[in-house]
Amino acid sequence: MTHDDALRMAAARARAAEMLPYLATALFACTPVRSDDVPTMAVDDRWRVYWNPAWCAGLPVRELAGAWLHEVGHLLREHATRFAELGEPPELAIMFNVAGDAAINADLDDAGVTLPPGGVHLGHIRGAARGMTAEQLYRLLPRRPDVSTVDCGSGATPGRRPWEPDPSTVDEAHRGIDADRADQVRRQVAAEIRSAGQVPAGLARWADDLLDPHVDWRTELNSVVRRKAAEVAGTRDYTYARPARRTVPGVILPAMRQPRPPVVYAVVDTSGSMDRDRLTRCLSEIDGIVQRSGRIRGPVRVVSCDTVTGELRPVRSVAEVVLTGGGGTDLRPAISAVARSRPPADLVVVLTDGDTPWDPAPPRENRTARYVAVLVAGDRHDVPRWFRKIVV
Ligand SMILES: [Zn+2]
Repeated sequence: MTHDDALRMAAARARAAEMLPYLATALFACTPVRSDDVPTMAVDDRWRVYWNPAWCAGLPVRELAGAWLHEVGHLLREHATRFAELGEPPELAIMFNVAGDAAINADLDDAGVTLPPGGVHLGHIRGAARGMTAEQLYRLLPRRPDVSTVDCGSGATPGRRPWEPDPSTVDEAHRGIDADRADQVRRQVAAEIRSAGQVPAGLARWADDLLDPHVDWRTELNSVVRRKAAEVAGTRDYTYARPARRTVPGVILPAMRQPRPPVVYAVVDTSGSMDRDRLTRCLSEIDGIVQRSGRIRGPVRVVSCDTVTGELRPVRSVAEVVLTGGGGTDLRPAISAVARSRPPADLVVVLTDGDTPWDPAPPRENRTARYVAVLVAGDRHDVPRWFRKIVV
């Protein structure tokens, strides 16, 4: 019987990919995990899809395909991260799950997908309208955690669930994907949605949001936040020892504490080769960083550099950025100055045309930060491997 179940799950995934081909990349990035402990079907933050064999056995493949598309919707839309960003009490996560379900299902209803019975649809939420985001729908819901037992797992709202394995005991085949790979999958799916003809409105907007800024600073910043959260998981962010814990049938959710906001530094190349147009582009990227990090609070610390490192200034709006320079280019002193700065950087963004010497390794003073090089309209694209390179 086990074999039959797994085959039906595989058939349902293939069916889902046939129905909405632009989601195929996301569907096949998932790792299915059979579990008697999960009540229905759920996802985790490593894109594992837990499925209950008894529940699945009672559904036609058509509806199982709908369930696949639903669960993948939580992962693409980063519902777990978005709930964490709201700063709401953890016991209300379940209501965000409900809101996310309604947003996903609105699109699937539009696309003519049949879902398993019992799901949340827009019509169940008073005041809900087509095109509302999960955050907007969440605000319409009662602030009571006990009105729902919906739980799509840690891929939908933060916190490891009882059916999700301890990461240290998982074998290679069930390890799932990491946050960087997940971001790649999201970008690819967004690109496929853009080139597809008929797409539900919510998915089209999601793809535009993801792809529109030259650099997706939301993803970059989230990736830093997630990495930090993973480093301290179990010791600081998630705790089962807090009174905030709460039970729903068969589930104990941990209380979640927010990690501190990421510390972001930007180094702007202001050498002579950076003309007005290039500097304007740099400013628009800094604006993107400021806008995105505004949601998680904290200034972006900006320094301009040609061969001389300028003054490091915290800015909360792009209007506060002062760029000085105009000489030759050597960004290395500025990068190491940033690496020595306090508070220590989580993310260092270097904006340049690439015409600068680079060090072969990250500065000794800060090897844990994520370093991103944004290459603006230059021809020099050779950047050392310790940078994530983005060409705009
Ligand atoms: Zn769901």
